[in-house]
Amino acid sequence: MAPIVEAGEPKKYDYLVIGGGSGGVASARRAAEFGIRAAVIEGGSLGGTCVNVGCVPKKVMFTAASMAEMLNQKHFEGYGFDVQLNSFDLKQVERPRSVDVNGTVYTADNILIAVGGHALVPDISGAHHGVISDGIFDLDKVPKHAVVVGAGYIAVEMAGILKSLGAEVSLVIRYDKILRSFDQMLSEKATESVEELGINLIRHDTVENVECDGAEKVLTITTKNGKVLEGVDCLLWAIGRGPGTEKLGLEHVPGIKLGPKGHIIVNDYQETGEPGVCALGDVCGRWELTPVAIAAGRQLAHRLFDNKAQAKIDYCDIPSVVFSHPPLGKKMTDTSLKKIVIGLHLFGINSDEILQGFAVAVRAGLTKAEFDRTVAIHPTTSEELVLMRNPTPPTVKVD
Ligand SMILES: Cc1cc2nc3c(=O)[nH]c(=O)nc-3n(C[C@H](O)[C@H](O)[C@H](O)COP(=O)(O)OP(=O)(O)OC[C@H]3O[C@@H](n4cnc5c(N)ncnc54)[C@H](O)[C@@H]3O)c2cc1C
Repeated sequence: MAPIVEAGEPKKYDYLVIGGGSGGVASARRAAEFGIRAAVIEGGSLGGTCVNVGCVPKKVMFTAASMAEMLNQKHFEGYGFDVQLNSFDLKQVERPRSVDVNGTVYTADNILIAVGGHALVPDISGAHHGVISDGIFDLDKVPKHAVVVGAGYIAVEMAGILKSLGAEVSLVIRYDKILRSFDQMLSEKATESVEELGINLIRHDTVENVECDGAEKVLTITTKNGKVLEGVDCLLWAIGRGPGTEKLGLEHVPGIKLGPKGHIIVNDYQETGEPGVCALGDVCGRWELTPVAIAAGRQLAHRLFDNKAQAKIDYCDIPSVVFSHPPLGKKMTDTSLKKIVIGLHLFGINSDEILQGFAVAVRAGLTKAEFDRTVAIHPTTSEELVLMRNPTPPTVKVD
């Protein structure tokens, strides 16, 4: 892989960043603000996962899928609009792309490893007939029958998008619920909602074999429990992601230690055990989210180049959202809210936008009493968060 360098001519830099994704670019840019000569070495598309094959193109498709849901559910009619969905051309959905700049590589006193991660593919017969999430953004048309394997947020988001755009979708999960690492209320609600959306949820199962009819490129998938899924024209592996550490030759850098799954182990200041080498973002495997990588990258630049010796990201109270598709079905969509003493969970339309504001409040240490004292904005969904009362204590039966 030919190295590509973003910054100009000099071969000696003050700061060398390997990986031009969210974390790497944010850190290099912030360092440059302090007059530091920073270079970013990027082997793929500048901008990394988030802008090329992650959050951004996904949000574009999510928005298209949400619009399709609204149109299909005839919400517009209820408000007096005469709108009809006649066709949908996936190619028209804008997919952001970024630019690579050719250059040369060199050395630096400070090196940052921010190479992110990649999707995992199972070691089973015919697995190569499937795609990882990157491949979804290259589809020319909505599949007829998509099979998504996995129960994490990427699987759930992609299944919801494909279903809302008109595909028949089967979601194969190893246990009984999706999003099992999330709050129980969210996991249950999300599991209900994917079924209400019409996704065929195949529980307690996993894919064992994939066969492809050469001419038509149509797949037949057999699961461990003997279920046969035929006529599949899109198989998406969303079974987890691993760190991009394999090809870096880190085994030759004694100070850098890897965790059991290959993530780089760092301390709170993103330092590896190798002097002058830091790491951050998905390659470290802690809170694999774009804003986390960006914040860690910026804080590191402040610590290294802005005399802020204590600068570091605080991993407390990090908000996150799953862009799943709650059904807009026959009834208005249910919204569930749960406020806990140190945070809150939301499920429903606009949860992403609502949560960002409340994340500031939680981060600022607001208590339940202060939520209670806040006057509601009516009529809104989020007013429920300031109107919510403590659950009625269970009745104690005394004999
Ligand atoms: C489908 C999908 C949806 C997502 N949705 C969201 C979301 O909604 N919200 C959210 O916050 N996060 C989301 N994420 C996660 C988010 O994209 C990552 O957490 C974030 O991009 C991590 O940033 P990073 O800098 O660690 O790595 P990346 O952005 O992955 O950047 C790493 C870069 O390093 C480059 N690289 C790798 N190896 C080398 C090498 N040897 N030499 C040079 N360059 C190299 C890669 O080409 C890549 O450009 C999503 C991820 C996926 C896959």
